[in-house]
Amino acid sequence: MTNVKQADIGKEYLELTGDETHERIAAQKKELGAQLLILCHHYQQDDVFNFADYTGDSLKLAKNAATSDRQFIIFCGVHFMAESADILTTDAQAVILPDLTAGCSMADMATSTEVEGVWQELAPLLDTKTVTPITYVNSSASLKAFVGEHGGSVCTSSNAERVLAWALRRGGRVFFCPDEHLGRNSAHALGIPADEVVLWRRGEKLGGNKIAALQKAKVILWDGYCTVHMQFSAAQIEQLRRDDPTIRIIVHPECRREVVQAADLYGSTETIIRAVAESPTGSHWAIGTEINLVERLARQFPDRHIRSVSNVACKCSTMYRINPAHLLWVLDNLAAGRVVNRITVDSRTAGFARIALDRMLTI
Ligand code: SF4
Repeated sequence: MTNVKQADIGKEYLELTGDETHERIAAQKKELGAQLLILCHHYQQDDVFNFADYTGDSLKLAKNAATSDRQFIIFCGVHFMAESADILTTDAQAVILPDLTAGCSMADMATSTEVEGVWQELAPLLDTKTVTPITYVNSSASLKAFVGEHGGSVCTSSNAERVLAWALRRGGRVFFCPDEHLGRNSAHALGIPADEVVLWRRGEKLGGNKIAALQKAKVILWDGYCTVHMQFSAAQIEQLRRDDPTIRIIVHPECRREVVQAADLYGSTETIIRAVAESPTGSHWAIGTEINLVERLARQFPDRHIRSVSNVACKCSTMYRINPAHLLWVLDNLAAGRVVNRITVDSRTAGFARIALDRMLTI
């Protein structure tokens, strides 16, 4: 993902007013009709989100893509999500990412080459046949393929505990990539003692661990993280509670352990939306996740008091690269018979990645 280049869309798109862009997107969407499906992640800005046929988290959107027969699927999310959609759709369908530089910093922290290198390093110390690799869905297709090829599974923020429990029931250890915090929060929820969860620090010998600690560990965590969710702290939560004793705090499991511990609830974006939607009028909420979702919930439920856990807008800057100008540019090209920014995963990678995705769906 690191060296991906996005074509210059031209200043004609960047100079349009918001209304002009909006009208032209709506017209092209109508023109392309049943050939087109637009999928938008919850963290997208509203100017894009409002054109979605379906909205959701990465798993829900991948399922929407998998069950669609539309020829062109525009994925308003980040690169790994579009890859999953391509893996789950037919070759006759084109998955399009409006801006190729919309990556995910967490996914980029664990390349399949790096993970494979660590796997080789672990092999003389642990019997890797007894280690089940798990990768969070926020990872490249090639890392999912590595996991699929080695008997492991993908997980999401909704089912990470279930997938981890499945892997541990197989009797060995788990190598969890790339999100340290989702892995630690899930291990804690399953009652795994903290000294049986170790962190593999990239760039350090044996990941900064002693051989005995690795051999004792039930869960080995990759040291990746989400730059957005790292901006929330337990101190912010304490301050919120001091200011408003009635406030309920809900955070995403990509937050640090102490943040999840200080919150009332934690869960995936779908869980957060459900908790707020099902709460009574007048409820007070502070939410620890990306700001576009928090602000949308505040507009959707004006009878509740909804704010971010942080006073600083925690925005996913790569997700933000999917803007109306780029959406219009891909639509104009489609209308002119050109498919630009198609995301394709080669068949070998897609085959093994699909094994890891399908395994998750059976757990
Ligand atoms: S919010 Fe975090 S995990 Fe999600 S796409 Fe952005 S950087 Fe990646």
